Amino acid sequence: MNYNKYKLKSNVFLSEIGADYLPIVRFYQLIKFPDILHFITTRQGGFSEKPFHSFNLASHVGDREEHVFRNREQLAAALCIPAKNFIFAQQEHGTNILITNFKKDVIDNNNFTKSDKVGDAFLTDDKGICLLIFVADCVPVLFFDYRKRVIGLAHAGWKGTIGLISQKTVQLMQSHYGCSVQDIICGLGPSIGPCCYEVGEEVLDKARDSFSDDLNHLIHHEPSKNQYFFDLWQANKVQLLKCGIPEENIALANICTSCHSDLFFSNRKEKGYTGRFAAGIMLRE
Ligand SMILES: [Zn+2]
Repeated sequence: MNYNKYKLKSNVFLSEIGADYLPIVRFYQLIKFPDILHFITTRQGGFSEKPFHSFNLASHVGDREEHVFRNREQLAAALCIPAKNFIFAQQEHGTNILITNFKKDVIDNNNFTKSDKVGDAFLTDDKGICLLIFVADCVPVLFFDYRKRVIGLAHAGWKGTIGLISQKTVQLMQSHYGCSVQDIICGLGPSIGPCCYEVGEEVLDKARDSFSDDLNHLIHHEPSKNQYFFDLWQANKVQLLKCGIPEENIALANICTSCHSDLFFSNRKEKGYTGRFAAGIMLRE
């Protein structure tokens, strides 16, 4: 496949890893830190059949369990880590942030395909835990404090974004781990862009409550069709800036999943019948 058009994006690049040349996206701003592993998968290179073709990593969307399992095994092999080190949760579009622990969540974990955890963001300072978030239009937000060696990962769809999950994740990094905002690098991965994310009254009303000062920058009105588009990328970036994270520490992938549904799953574009790709981050052992 020709990935050249995606390599032109400013903050991310595509590479192929492992014996199977699995394509993944990485941030330039995070790849320079050798003590973390991070990645965003694509929909290419897996075993799942339509409409989950082919690298679906989520088991809750109706795909065959053995295909999801094989895809996860393939990802683990390409990353050179055990599949049991993947830590994920039942995502519910909320703002519950889970603090994870290597012994409790990896060594004592006997179920690698389902999770009994419920939450939409993770934090850890333990090495060897590969945090995973599954998405198909929602914004995956990666966090790394390079001084305290703390990693985080959040799932920000419209509900999580309006619930200020990015801001809450940073605040918990500060209160739980003593992180300084100057030391936190953030990456906002491929997700539905302001070009395609048309929203209705319910989202507009709630966005007004959460982002009153910034609303004009976050909602674009198309008068000819009376359509409203919500900018999830900027709505999460605004939260990070308000926490005090320097703008140069925030990297946007600027890749719209709906415009690029050949490379990523897009729930909106595929009308709800599709798979999930994953964002992941791990402190290396
Ligand atoms: Zn788009």
